[in-house]
Amino acid sequence: MSDLSNPIFYDETKAREWLEGRIWANGRFCPHCGAVNQSTLLQGKSHRPGLYQCNACREPFTVTVGTLYERSHIPLSKWLAATHLMMASKKGMSAMQVHRMLGISYKSAWFMCHRIRESLRETKLDTPLGGHNKVVEADETYIGGKEANKHKSKRRPGRQGGVGKAPVLALVERDGAVRSQHVANVNAKTLRPILKQHIDKKSYVMTDESPVYPPITGEFGGHGTVNHSAEEYVRAVFWHTNTVENYFSILKRGIVGIYHHVSAEHLPRYLAEFDFRYNQRITLGVNDDQRMAKAAKGIVGKRLTYRRTRRSEETSTDIPF
Ligand SMILES: [Zn+2]
Repeated sequence: MSDLSNPIFYDETKAREWLEGRIWANGRFCPHCGAVNQSTLLQGKSHRPGLYQCNACREPFTVTVGTLYERSHIPLSKWLAATHLMMASKKGMSAMQVHRMLGISYKSAWFMCHRIRESLRETKLDTPLGGHNKVVEADETYIGGKEANKHKSKRRPGRQGGVGKAPVLALVERDGAVRSQHVANVNAKTLRPILKQHIDKKSYVMTDESPVYPPITGEFGGHGTVNHSAEEYVRAVFWHTNTVENYFSILKRGIVGIYHHVSAEHLPRYLAEFDFRYNQRITLGVNDDQRMAKAAKGIVGKRLTYRRTRRSEETSTDIPF
């Protein structure tokens, strides 16, 4: 699956069978009533390929009912190809590139990319990051505005972020996962509940010397700060926030280089995309095929979100790239 020559990226039957294997790995379930392995394939020319009828509730269904792909006029194979392109590229893939590579309209490519991002959004965040003897780095950055102004203004108290920039908080467990989110502002009141929800209390929390963290991080196992102005961030292996800064650097290269501009409205979906790729990376033992399979599974149960997304996109005049 490492390139676009795989049949699932151009053959509709192969694409459907691949998706069925992923979605129905634990048995073919009816999306209407939930019955497992109680359905019959409807065969014959009058039926769509892959159409089943539930023996319990008698409703017909295919593998895409109840998923992000439901009612799409774009062939399933193109959905899988677009997902693959987004997964395989570290910095992301623009709708313009998807449009050119897959031979679909730019508008379709744009909608598709946003829907795929929605499918990557992590919905189960019950388990906190970190734990005993583990380090979680916390840092914030600002998306939007002139790139050249961003780094310094971020470090200057009282001028954090500037007007029109969207603050993003990221929490990264070293050798582990990231969780990033758009926050309304960067102060202890906003950040405290987020850190408490997403970081295990026993963790060692590492931040830069921003004054917002000490009142919060005192509640964790330990708090280390890094003094950037004195270039101390390289002085030891342990005392650094390099991991979260590395994440931000990938995020910014992607947003600035590939997506050019991202509106605050769409920012959470881009963050979901970058978090997903980071959390399913090769150094964590996840290969391209597994990443793709996990992305495909994310389409289930996203139907309502997708409908809301589509509406807001269709009425939106803010095309971000
Ligand atoms: Zn049923």
